[in-house]
Formats: sequence, C-alpha cells, structure tokens
Amino acid sequence: MSTKPTLPMTPRDILRENALQIVMYILGAAICALLWWPLALLYLTYAVLSNVLYMAWVCPYCGHYALGTCPAGFHILSGRRFKPKLGTTFAREFRRNLWVMVPGWFVPPIVAAYLLLVTGFSWPVLALLAIFCFVAFWWLPESSKSHCEGCETVDCPRRPKPKAS
Ligand code: SF4
Repeated sequence: MSTKPTLPMTPRDILRENALQIVMYILGAAICALLWWPLALLYLTYAVLSNVLYMAWVCPYCGHYALGTCPAGFHILSGRRFKPKLGTTFAREFRRNLWVMVPGWFVPPIVAAYLLLVTGFSWPVLALLAIFCFVAFWWLPESSKSHCEGCETVDCPRRPKPKAS
C-alpha cells in the first residue's frame, strides 16, 4: 500500500494497477480450461467473487479505503459501500478472511499438476504452469512491495512495521 497523495483514479489507472493480478487470473483460467472448459468459467467467477468479498471483509478496516487512497482502486470499484464493524482491526480481519483469495492462487497449480501427473506430461502445460507461478508467486509479491513502501498501517500482517517508540 502507498500513502502518496493521489489524483482521482481513472479506469485506466485501476486497470494498470491490477493488471498483474488480471494476467494471473487469465493464465489460471487457461490452465483450468485444459482440464475442463467450464472449470475456467467457474475459476473466473470465483476470482471476481473473492475480490468482492475481500473488499467487503477486509478493505473497510484499511485506512486507504476510507481515505480514498487505495492504490488498487478498490474504494472506487466497491463504491465504498462496505462499512467496518466496531471492535476489530485490519490485522484481525485480514488474517481471518485472507483464505477467500487462496483458491485463485492455488487451484491452477493443482490442476496443472493433475494434468502433468495423471492425464499425461505436456510441455505446453508445464510452460503455462511455470509462467503462472512466476507471475503469482514472484512478480505479484515483488510489485506489491512498492505499494507497501511508506504505508503507515502498522498492524498490517503482510509487512509489519516497527512501532514508533
Ligand atoms: S490497500 Fe486497503 S483498500 Fe486497497 S485493496 Fe488493500 S486492503 Fe483494500
């Protein structure tokens, strides 16, 4: 996350900031389609649903949501319609609800492993798996580091900050 002052985000800004995640979901859908094409539709539907649930369950506890400075534009995409409940924190809700995003990252590798080990080895499947893993498990986390630099959310479980003494 970033706390830099922001100009109003345009749809193109939102698309650019979420491009890597969109690429990951497209690669994941391509892998799922190799097993069973309806699975690709299910995977993409779940990708959209899980992001909406993340906006509802986690984002309201993030300072950027209320301030309108979310670098991913989730405050715009959700119309800021989700409100926080009293008596909880960002860290707690993040840990409690992060599971909703997990299938988006792990279903495609599981499907690819099944294709490679059970239905028969294939170089194109292996290549898709390698590209998916590169984007999902290296490139995305690396790029999110720049968003986290300078963020003042001290209780963020992703990148805890030293508390000011
Ligand atoms: S920065 Fe905050 S509002 Fe934006 S996606 Fe992350 S948790 Fe949600």
